[in-house]
Amino acid sequence: MSNKWLRKTLIILLSVIMMVIAGREFLIWLNEKEPIVEGPGVTRVAKLSDYFADLKGTALDTNIYILEGEEDGGAVMVTAGVHTNELSGVMTNVILIENAHVEKGKVILIPFANNSAFTAGHPGEAYPMRYHIKTDWGSRWFRFGDRYTNPIHQWPDPEVYVHYPSGQSLSGFDIRNLNRTFPGKADGTITEKVGHAIMQVIEKENVDLFIDLHEAEPMYPVINTIVANQKAMDIAVIAEMNLSAFEGIKIGKEISPENLHGLTHREVGDHSRALSLLAETCDPIQDPLRGRTDEALIITGKDEFILKAAKLGLLYVPFDETGSHIDVRTGRHTSTVLEIISAFSELYPDKEIIVSDAPRYAEIIEKGVGYFLLKPRG
Ligand SMILES: [Zn+2]
Repeated sequence: MSNKWLRKTLIILLSVIMMVIAGREFLIWLNEKEPIVEGPGVTRVAKLSDYFADLKGTALDTNIYILEGEEDGGAVMVTAGVHTNELSGVMTNVILIENAHVEKGKVILIPFANNSAFTAGHPGEAYPMRYHIKTDWGSRWFRFGDRYTNPIHQWPDPEVYVHYPSGQSLSGFDIRNLNRTFPGKADGTITEKVGHAIMQVIEKENVDLFIDLHEAEPMYPVINTIVANQKAMDIAVIAEMNLSAFEGIKIGKEISPENLHGLTHREVGDHSRALSLLAETCDPIQDPLRGRTDEALIITGKDEFILKAAKLGLLYVPFDETGSHIDVRTGRHTSTVLEIISAFSELYPDKEIIVSDAPRYAEIIEKGVGYFLLKPRG
């Protein structure tokens, strides 16, 4: 073999070796899920596919953690990870799964609603794939993903996405946005199937109250707020007053726009008996103005460019040198969930839900999110 051929063969061989190593790495990133500990209050763990069999064996099937009280009462569902780069809702769900007890009624938690989106990063955003939370005994890792279903699980996007059943025209890529595909469609795309499956859980588990947890960038007006379906507006009003009066949490409230379709706060309320609300915190990593995009930004929410924008009065939230820490964001969401449950129980006493052993805003900030994360076995 001539030198030229030897060189070519070696280059091809090296390329194949690199592809195998990288491919293996990609496969691990795609399939490996963070460990979640079933806390003492968890009475059942189900899967979305238990309610809608089409999802069985797909990348979009996901765990549902159910905490049931000894006494009958109402049922609340809390979802997070509808957008997988909005993580304080995931933290709130995990804290409830690993710590809370339900004395009356039922709490249904879906921390990774769009399980496919957790396997993707948004093109051009340089998002870290994972982040770590420090605890007293070590650290826990979690996936950080995209706003949209991974294109390897749903492709291609149409030019225009026609929402079902409203017929409203939306951007083509929103066909992979779980917060634009509710109430879902049994024979639709895989993202629409997830919406449909969650609606099935709501129906079969007799869910009375639905709360979807999100985060928004500081330059976006719908932030640090509760968005309520018109049927749930009284709950939002009471929750807002109590959050402000008892915990010093300033939060807005707004009504879900009637003509904006596919969103959980609109469609869950319109297509089921559940009263639907959505809550937003401030998440700098989503803002296009941000600087370095790394794990530190995910955790601390500190960014010099967003700080500059704050000083110029360009933001919709108060923002200073302390940033928007994950403890603050998770504390806000956890207290918001608990206050919404209390407000619902006050308005519908025959459907009362009582949750205990769940930390609130001040305690989460004082001790940090990591304090409430249990050590996975093995
Ligand atoms: Zn969102």
